[in-house]
Amino acid sequence: MKNNVNLEDLETAYSYKSNRQLKFTYFIFNILQNQKLVKLLIAFTNGILKYNLPFKIFIKKTVFNVFCAGEDINDAFLKIKYLEKFKVKSVLDYVSEGENNSESFDNNTNIIVSNIIRLGKECPGNYVSVKITGLENPKFLTYCNGMKLVNDLIILPRFDRLINRIDLICKTAHASKVIVFIDAEDRCMQDLFDEITETMMEKYNTEYAVVFNTLQMYLKDRLEYLNSLIENANKQNYIPGIKLVRGAYVEKEREKAIKDGIVSPVFDTKKETDDSFNQAVEICLREFKKVDSCIATHNSDSTIHAINCIHKYHITNHYSKVRFSQLYGMSDNLTFNLSINGYNSSKYLPYGEVRKAIPYLIRRSEENSSIDGQIIDEVKRLKKEIDRRAKF
Ligand SMILES: Cc1cc2nc3c(=O)[nH]c(=O)nc-3n(C[C@H](O)[C@H](O)[C@H](O)COP(=O)(O)OP(=O)(O)OC[C@H]3O[C@@H](n4cnc5c(N)ncnc54)[C@H](O)[C@@H]3O)c2cc1C
Repeated sequence: MKNNVNLEDLETAYSYKSNRQLKFTYFIFNILQNQKLVKLLIAFTNGILKYNLPFKIFIKKTVFNVFCAGEDINDAFLKIKYLEKFKVKSVLDYVSEGENNSESFDNNTNIIVSNIIRLGKECPGNYVSVKITGLENPKFLTYCNGMKLVNDLIILPRFDRLINRIDLICKTAHASKVIVFIDAEDRCMQDLFDEITETMMEKYNTEYAVVFNTLQMYLKDRLEYLNSLIENANKQNYIPGIKLVRGAYVEKEREKAIKDGIVSPVFDTKKETDDSFNQAVEICLREFKKVDSCIATHNSDSTIHAINCIHKYHITNHYSKVRFSQLYGMSDNLTFNLSINGYNSSKYLPYGEVRKAIPYLIRRSEENSSIDGQIIDEVKRLKKEIDRRAKF
């Protein structure tokens, strides 16, 4: 177990990319640096994507190509197997945002279930992620959030169908020994997601964490929730799976809070979010005997903090207790340098139809074009590696 991990070894970081791919990624990230252009492209995409096939091809050949594994599950499996050669695991993420009827929710469930079975057989040790809004309508989920549904005879059958979908996914994951990450989304649905995920964890996380909940540490209430989750899990005799993220919906949450006339649930400053995230890392790793964790970030300081905690708390079995994860197409310097140094690291690997991946791609583009994002460092790293290769 090495303590001094060089997260800036770029030869290792981009070893999986050909010269052509590297230059193409550099080109795309350069475009994403331009905030005005990104805003324009997003408006354009929202407006005409449905009708304009050539534009869809344009997206497929540009941002989709950098941030997604492909439209087809077989493309995704090829990527998973390729990444395995670099000791990098994958979190297979079937992207299907914005669907609205029970038939498509059942269909999504079946796709995720068959992906889990195939992963268990062909690529054991890799994971899946699930967005609950791919299994039910966000409006319905928001309505159910925080409600006692037991006596609501109108809502109950539909709610039961949702639980059955999630249970089928978790049960299959348990049987196939595939870990499943339940993603966090808007705060107005999160109490419901917590409740459901805790029920699944209690059922399936008896030996190790099969099901992981996601905690968005930009939320002011999450440190308190984290402590109570660990305490309750301990009492109920299960191992909580905890994926820590900062949170992807800052602006949306703030706008909603203003509209609803409430105090924003998100911290006011980046520093507060950083402190909350790093404290959560410390708690999860200090409690490693009771908790399985996933540190999902592109932030180098938080990654180094987690590595330091692994050493501070002598987590000798860290490969099975602490996972690191980055989104496909971003922060390869972390993923590949962690894996080569013996840490459990993975890529969140989205795949699916271009049309259904648009909200995901918009979030990535906005994140990468935001002023306090890490795009500048990403571009510098890509350029440095292109120059280094050019010398040889
Ligand atoms: C593997 C993986 C899985 C993910 N899964 C999810 C998920 O399930 N749900 C989800 O919501 N997100 C998810 N994300 C995205 C994540 O929440 C972040 O948006 C993204 O990773 C950027 O944060 P960072 O820690 O990587 O890095 P940084 O660049 O250090 O942090 C950027 C983040 O800081 C926060 N921030 C920025 N400015 C402010 C401010 N002024 N005030 C308060 N906070 C601020 C925001 O959360 C912003 O996204 C995932 C990310 C990864 C890597």
